[in-house]
Amino acid sequence: MFSVDLKKLTDLLQPLSFLLSNTLYPISCVGCGEKEVGLCAKCLVVLPPPDFKQEEEVVAVFSYQNKIVKRAIWKLKYRNGRYLAPILAEALYERLLPELADLKLLKNWSDAVLIPVPLSTKRFKKRGYNQAELLAEALIEKDAGENFTLKKDILLRAIDTPPQAEIKNKGERKNNVRGCFAVKNKELVRGKNIILIDDVSTTGATLHEAEKALKKSGARNFLKITVAK
Ligand SMILES: [Zn+2]
Repeated sequence: MFSVDLKKLTDLLQPLSFLLSNTLYPISCVGCGEKEVGLCAKCLVVLPPPDFKQEEEVVAVFSYQNKIVKRAIWKLKYRNGRYLAPILAEALYERLLPELADLKLLKNWSDAVLIPVPLSTKRFKKRGYNQAELLAEALIEKDAGENFTLKKDILLRAIDTPPQAEIKNKGERKNNVRGCFAVKNKELVRGKNIILIDDVSTTGATLHEAEKALKKSGARNFLKITVAK
C-alpha cells in the first residue's frame, strides 16, 4: 500500500519552502535593511548586552529589550529566518568561550554536552525546525569538537504547552512549563556538565524546568545560555 513518509516529504520540501520564502521576502538586515544579509556586521556590533539585573542565572549575549534583537529572534523563530542562526551563534560562541574557561578553572568542567531546548513534536512539525537546535548546530560547527558535543535527542518536550510569550505573568510562566520535559537515554547525561541553549529567556522558567529534568537524571552542572534575555 502506498504511504507517505511525512518526515521524508518535509525534508524534501524544506529547500523549496526556503527558496520560496526568500523570493517572496528577500533577505535583508533586520537593523538597517542592507540586502542579502540577515544581520549586518555594523548593526551587530552595536547591539546592547542584557540589563545587569535580568535573570542572573542565564548568560545571554544581547538585551531582548532592543528592537533589532527582538526582530532578529522573531524572524529566526516565526519567519523561517534560519540564515540568522549562524550569525547569532557567532556572537553566542564569543560569549560562551570565556564562561567555559572560567568553569573549567573553577568547577573542573570538561567535555560539556550541548543540549538545545526542544520544541514539542506538534510545534516542530508546524515550524519545520527548532531555532535552538539551529543555534546549537552552528555552535558545534564553530567549536569543531574543542569544548562540547551536541545531543539533540536526550531532552524531549513531552507536553505541548502554550508559548511562554503568550503568558505575561512570571508565576504563570513557571506553571505553564512545569513537568513539560522528559529525558531519554539518562545514562548519557549522568555526571555530565550541560550547556543548555535557547534563543531567548525572559523569566528563565523554561530553562529552569529543562535543568530540573536533566538534574533528576543525574546531570552535574549547568550553563544556561541564550541569544537574548
Ligand atoms: Zn544592518
